[in-house]
Amino acid sequence: MTTGNRRPLIAGNWKMFKTCSEAVETVSRLMELARGADTVDIMVAPPFTSLHPVSEVAEKGNIAVGAQNIFWEKDGAYTGEISADMLRSCGVTHVLIGHSERRQYFGETDETVNRRVGAAIAAELIPVLCVGETEEQREEGNTFSVLDKQIKKGLEGLSASELVNLVVAYEPVWAIGTGKTATPSMVQEVHGFLRDLIEKTFDSDLSSAVRILYGGSVKPDNIGELMALADVDGALVGGASLDPETFSRIIHF
Ligand code: PEP
Repeated sequence: MTTGNRRPLIAGNWKMFKTCSEAVETVSRLMELARGADTVDIMVAPPFTSLHPVSEVAEKGNIAVGAQNIFWEKDGAYTGEISADMLRSCGVTHVLIGHSERRQYFGETDETVNRRVGAAIAAELIPVLCVGETEEQREEGNTFSVLDKQIKKGLEGLSASELVNLVVAYEPVWAIGTGKTATPSMVQEVHGFLRDLIEKTFDSDLSSAVRILYGGSVKPDNIGELMALADVDGALVGGASLDPETFSRIIHF
């Protein structure tokens, strides 16, 4: 396995929280608190309705804006969907794809995830591909086969050069919003597995460049031990990203 010089990314997923004015207030405060965090990339993913006003504020600072999903068609009669060009026009640079809540509650599959990753890449948006096993899958010893399928199918048909900016987020489903964090040894084991898998499926340049984030009940008091792990390149933070004070303590880990 090769190691690379990867700049950490701390990303906040605001899920279905915050009105426009609340989102703008949060990002404005976060910008003040994030001052001086020059060695990490920071990204927030507000709901679609706040993307434009949040990015207008965030572009004055060092915070990137991500969407929580993307549809793969360019345009058309797809009521309720949002295209890559629409996201770009709102100042979006990153997009979460295949979050477990999308897979669990909205029927997303590895095939639809793959189409979304393709659309993001075609539009030069940075895909943050979320993968992770359920509690049952872990207990049955299927963690690695589940992740293998999610990565291979999710990235099918794409080349290493197209995936040069890819970010992967390992989020064990049982750790999301539950207060249960995977132990450091579990996290390193999976992140090492994912990096090896990317090397075998693509090449070592990609596996050493790809940033692999951990997500699942990340808090100010556990970010330090997670970031100390060799193959952890940042975090995808849900609940603890909603409050700018708490999130900034994670950013300044
Ligand atoms: C998430 O939504 O991606 C997440 C990891 O949530 P939480 O930090 O609340 O577990």
